[in-house]
Amino acid sequence: MIVTIDGPAGAGKSTVAKTLAGRLGFEFLDTGAMYRTIALKLLRQGGLQRLAELNHWIHEVDLRFEPGRAWLCGDEVTGDIRTPEVTGLVSVVAEHALVRQKLVGIQKAYGVGRSLVTEGRDQGTAVFPESPCKFFLVADVLERARRRKVELEKSGVTVDLETLAAQIAERDRRDANREIGPMIAAHDAIHVDSTGKTIPEVVDHLHSHVEKRISALHSELSKNASK
Ligand code: C5P
Repeated sequence: MIVTIDGPAGAGKSTVAKTLAGRLGFEFLDTGAMYRTIALKLLRQGGLQRLAELNHWIHEVDLRFEPGRAWLCGDEVTGDIRTPEVTGLVSVVAEHALVRQKLVGIQKAYGVGRSLVTEGRDQGTAVFPESPCKFFLVADVLERARRRKVELEKSGVTVDLETLAAQIAERDRRDANREIGPMIAAHDAIHVDSTGKTIPEVVDHLHSHVEKRISALHSELSKNASK
């Protein structure tokens, strides 16, 4: 079974998805890391002014992902894809049709035959629309900025709250308004607001929905089998 968690930047998707996957004994997929790896490659090529050349290297670029880790052209880039420079560029890269085509292909292939909790922006809509259990996780923008500030401070980066909130809002705007794979809740997604809630509270909430869904699917299966 595939569980999808979509939603805006900093709503807690990664931690929630990872914890939920651990509880369910499912694998975890962080699709943002994939877009970040392409943004890092572009940054290393010279940044936005070299965007046009992406068409030439996107098909051959050597990417490898494991839960919580990423490699670009054979080198591990797990830490490098979390810098503010990559974060600033990533939603522009994510608008590119060939980038989405490549990464959606990798994600779909990864999901074949696996039990997975996957998180991103388009997992329940474009990548796994057949998923029986979809969530759209949101939180107040200021709270998201506060969480990002704490995370950045842990890695020695200091940014003021207003700047972070503005950057997050701008990334959400780009992610929600792009033509291909925009950030949008699937029509059958369960909306969850994590504002003021702890991670374990949010995970408990999602977990109970997943368990209900699993038992509903089991009853459907046994009803069909006895027909
Ligand atoms: O989740 P994270 O903040 O690491 O995602 C970084 C960026 O990658 C997002 O702002 C978005 O532009 C892009 N992304 C996407 N589709 C996904 C996951 C991430 O476009 N499924």
